[in-house]
Amino acid sequence: MADNEMKKVYGIDLGTTYSAISFINEYGKPEIITNSDNERVTPSVVYFESLDNVIVGKIAKESAKADPGRVVDFVKLQMNNKDWTFDLDGKSFRPEEISAYILKRLVNDAEKTGNHSIKDVVITCPAYFGDLERSRTRQAGEIAGLNVVEILDEPVAAAINYGLNEDSKGKNIIVYDLGGGTFDVTVVSIGDDADKNDIKIVCTEGDHQLGGKNWDDSIFSYYIDQFMEQTGSTADPRDDVETAYDLRMATETDKKTITNREKTTRKISHEGETAKIELTREKFDELTASLLERTIELTNRVLEEAEKRGVTKIDTFLLVGGSTRMPQIAKKVEEVFAKRLGVKPVSFDVDEAVAKGAAQVGNIKSIKDYAAESGKTTAEIAEETGTSEEHIELAVKTNIQKVATKSYGIKALKNDNEIIFNLIKKQENVPAEGSHTFSTAEANATEIDLIVFANNESDQIAEMDMGEEIGRAVFSLPQNLPKNAPIEITFRLNDEGTLSMAAVDKTYNQKVDAVFEAEGIMSSEELEAAQANARNITVE
Ligand code: ADP
Ligand code: MG
Repeated sequence: MADNEMKKVYGIDLGTTYSAISFINEYGKPEIITNSDNERVTPSVVYFESLDNVIVGKIAKESAKADPGRVVDFVKLQMNNKDWTFDLDGKSFRPEEISAYILKRLVNDAEKTGNHSIKDVVITCPAYFGDLERSRTRQAGEIAGLNVVEILDEPVAAAINYGLNEDSKGKNIIVYDLGGGTFDVTVVSIGDDADKNDIKIVCTEGDHQLGGKNWDDSIFSYYIDQFMEQTGSTADPRDDVETAYDLRMATETDKKTITNREKTTRKISHEGETAKIELTREKFDELTASLLERTIELTNRVLEEAEKRGVTKIDTFLLVGGSTRMPQIAKKVEEVFAKRLGVKPVSFDVDEAVAKGAAQVGNIKSIKDYAAESGKTTAEIAEETGTSEEHIELAVKTNIQKVATKSYGIKALKNDNEIIFNLIKKQENVPAEGSHTFSTAEANATEIDLIVFANNESDQIAEMDMGEEIGRAVFSLPQNLPKNAPIEITFRLNDEGTLSMAAVDKTYNQKVDAVFEAEGIMSSEELEAAQANARNITVE
């Protein structure tokens, strides 16, 4: 591609259970690219056929039965786990590497379908992801050989896909996202500035152990109980790995069936006994009522929090995530919130909203960059790209204002108690900067070595047990500093949620070398090694 052309940026929803890829078509609309199985979403499951050949998606999911030790699923839940690796045949794979293979499959398929090579992507992540998980998501893209234009919050992507136009100014949107393994609920607000389209996250809540899989599990337990009751058998089907596996796969199918029908029947055979079990939607709703209730509780909590932050009116209640296809969801949400908030829940592109929103943000970014670099007018760009001038204008003035999704601080002493002193506070607009001046304990100190914590407290001081250690900040001091020399330490969080440090020695007013050694994030050497390794792996 020539330098003076507008970049084509793809949007990727790297989901816990399903992933998808989208691009903006010639009419300026987002479109999902189907994979080589002709499906619009791809299971986020990775099967290592060998160390240099991995299979991603539907076949990987099916391989779990024959070869469970070579299959990885739900890897996104490990992105915050500094120690997790998948070990196979003497090799270890980190979560960002496994994620990279999922990305590679999506991109490979999309390149084949579109006959277009893919380089630039926007990848989405949950709003609650902190520095570690965001850096790892970006690195997953880099390991897959991609240029990651942006790491975007999933609810922001969904809100943008729902519609960004003159009418959306000043609107507050609640995004209820029930996926396969996680539940997130987020309030997003769109600014009412006439010549800007500021979009920001107000607050977010969620449960990362709550998703469609729990609904499947309820069916699974019910089937087992019914089997035992009907047959009077004492042989538990769960004891047979294959039967149990088939039954687990069947529960997801049956769940989807009763989304469209009132009932379904499942036959279970085990040790010579057979049972035919009927599952009605009514029974299913009863079995899963407490799961649904939990999402309502969290939704209430995020609304309360939003109110504290000055958001008192909700204009749109958006349902996304594959699990919101279950009729019980919209029904309950409507029952609880429609009257109270004065809005009806809307389902919009539930499986595809996030990928499509990511493609839209990618497109907005490339239009903005192109307009700035080329100096061309919106009319000229519209003409050249075959899209409407309105579309170009809207893109140019859209600004995604992000906020810190966590607080970041250091361990300090307060009245002899260890506490976390936050330099960056959750909900601050990013890029954010926070400084504090420390004094050296002795004369001629050579360095300050601080332990850095992430936490969810919005105040300056957080209890130690609220924090999670994320790394060390090391400041190499100049020579000959007196005792109690003031050193001003600054934390910076960029607009992507990545943390860095700086410091100034106030005695001589000079910059101090600062290094943030984030635990769990690959160094550039490790990243290069992972990239080289990924190049040698065939992904199907
Ligand atoms: P994630 O973002 O966690 O990767 P998705 O938003 O794609 O996941 O949602 C996947 C979940 O949606 C799975 O648990 C899947 O079983 C469920 N799901 C998909 N379609 C339906 C349907 N028609 N009825 C009920 N559940 C569905
Ligand atoms: Mg999702």
